[in-house]
Amino acid sequence: MSDGRTKPMPAVFVGHGNPMNAIENNEFHHGWQQLSGRIPRPESVLCISAHWETQGLFVTGSDEPETIHDFYGFPKSLYEVRYPAPGSPSLAHRTAALLAPEKVDLDSRRGLDHGAWGVLVAMYPRADIPVVQLSLDTAQPANIHYEVAKRLAPLRDEGVLILGSGNIVHNLKLFDFHNDEPVAWAVEFNEQVKELARTRRHEKLIHYEVLGADAKLAVPTREHFLPLLSVLALQREHESIQFHTDKVNSSISMTSLVVGG
Ligand code: ZN
Repeated sequence: MSDGRTKPMPAVFVGHGNPMNAIENNEFHHGWQQLSGRIPRPESVLCISAHWETQGLFVTGSDEPETIHDFYGFPKSLYEVRYPAPGSPSLAHRTAALLAPEKVDLDSRRGLDHGAWGVLVAMYPRADIPVVQLSLDTAQPANIHYEVAKRLAPLRDEGVLILGSGNIVHNLKLFDFHNDEPVAWAVEFNEQVKELARTRRHEKLIHYEVLGADAKLAVPTREHFLPLLSVLALQREHESIQFHTDKVNSSISMTSLVVGG
């Protein structure tokens, strides 16, 4: 718990991209390792991942969440990865209490999806920091999603790393597996979002769908974009944003950002 004198934990959004980044010796895996070294070691992690969508809000309540391999057609070595971080029923309850009057249910059977462990395995490979996930409520519009995330702010003073995991630009249909040269519209949309984030124009980001013609290509479905809004909602007055792993691969942005680092 904070004594009121320590700096709050930063809030982090990570562009996760290909699940193979969890085990490949590549620039993104290394970038996430470096990112964890630039922020204080958290007491626990609350992850909001693109890969857990529910009707209504849920938090993982298990004290031993399993590793979920929620993808298809990848090498066996990726399915063998286990991320045995403990859960934290107390953080789950604390999260639910903070989000009131929103109803938040505890799911004691749900494990960690690859949006969470795929990044955490690089950031905290010892898996010794408790992790809880908070789902994305498919029933709520982006502005409610943003407003609800604001209520998580006190966790930053309690040593909790709030980690959003998604992608600013995420178009798998147009992704070229043979050529990772960034496509122009993806770069343009990514730069536009970065500039709006840097200058704190969150209202425009909440209404990302009217940012221009590229928005439909960049955010064909919203689940990878919403975790960005959760993290930006936690930005305090005078806090700045730093970008990491800032690169577009074909039609996916790998840009990550740290709020208040
Ligand atoms: Zn994903």
